[in-house]
Amino acid sequence: MSILVLNSGSSTLKFALFDELAEEELVRGTLDWYSQSEGVTMAYGFQKISKTESRLDISNNRDAVEWILHVLAEINLGKSIRAVGHRVVHGGTKFCQPTLINEKVIQSLGEISELAPLHNPPALTTIGAVKTILPEAAHVAVFDTAFFSTLPRSAYLYPVPYEWYEQYGIRRFGFHGISHEYCSTRAAELLDRQNDDSLKLVICHLGNGCSATAVLGGSPLATTMGFTPLEGLMMGTRSGSIDPGILIYLMKQQGFNPEQLDQSLNHQSGLLGVSDVSSDFRQIEQAAQDKNERAQLAIKMFVERIQSTIGSLSVLLGGIDALIFTAGIGEHSPLLRSSVCEKLSFLGLELNEVKNQNAHTDSDLATKQSAGRILLIQTREEQMIARAAQRFIMKSK
Ligand code: ADP
Repeated sequence: MSILVLNSGSSTLKFALFDELAEEELVRGTLDWYSQSEGVTMAYGFQKISKTESRLDISNNRDAVEWILHVLAEINLGKSIRAVGHRVVHGGTKFCQPTLINEKVIQSLGEISELAPLHNPPALTTIGAVKTILPEAAHVAVFDTAFFSTLPRSAYLYPVPYEWYEQYGIRRFGFHGISHEYCSTRAAELLDRQNDDSLKLVICHLGNGCSATAVLGGSPLATTMGFTPLEGLMMGTRSGSIDPGILIYLMKQQGFNPEQLDQSLNHQSGLLGVSDVSSDFRQIEQAAQDKNERAQLAIKMFVERIQSTIGSLSVLLGGIDALIFTAGIGEHSPLLRSSVCEKLSFLGLELNEVKNQNAHTDSDLATKQSAGRILLIQTREEQMIARAAQRFIMKSK
């Protein structure tokens, strides 16, 4: 028996298969059909099995699902999938908990798609396809927005005309919630402060998308992503927060239309836009080391925005017990962690540079004397989703 976890993008489908207790990850992989000219690649593997295939005939999520199940069957892992957990980016205000997917839920998710046009539609296509292929399995949607459903009103409202909220539903939703929730729980465990209402955490999820959250006693107080995943920190290709007056200027004076703004802010900004090297932090680090001035500038801007966000979130919390780094950059870049922590001693956070350079998963990188802890936590979004799906199997037993 096993649990399949699916994370659908517009041109990628990530998957992971867990044992029935949602504890052991058996295999994981990514199917990527973005660059059609180079063929479609599928890389999967874990422990003993590792394989990359290319030039597959895939053009949509439905084909992708069929391929993944085909591959799992080939390596004898395709049988007995009892539950499928789907990462759904946007749950709107309706979905605040993992939800068993039925026709009514699919319809409601369709209605929310407008709020997340890049993310929810592919997830819905995937859900439809897998439900047809595996009708007996429990299909469970786990939402990136759910953790933030308890944000205080002062944190989720914007200082704009109140009717925007009432009439158009303009509010902060927050994203990366599965990761922030996991890191918050794991940090409490590592600090041996579970069920401590006073635990003050600032979690920095730094991957292609970046966000930071202030968590007090396990509940989010504030988070940087907003109505869309475009707000907040500078990201790989997304700008993060900028003066909204720039958009008005570009539209009124320079004739930009909404599509151009969307494309520029979501796909041509951030680390890529500033460095003109790449959106990939490894490549930017390399270019900066090779004295590329724009890559150095991009890193400086990226770091400064993280630092000022940590500062403001710590003030909201009234202090900070631990700073958490997670996701691709947060977990794997000692340079980034070191640069960010350079100015945080006034918050009582002092990085042990030796530990930082030789960091282990789920470890404390702060010096002994540091008043606050600095944790590196490997985010486990897939496992969170698998566990949520597993709870539905237990319920149905
Ligand atoms: P996603 O948001 O798509 O899940 P990830 O969490 O995998 O992305 O993060 C991707 C980012 O992590 C990329 O910018 C990548 O360059 C960066 N990254 C991964 N490994 C390293 C590393 N060893 N050093 C620096 N950056 C890294």
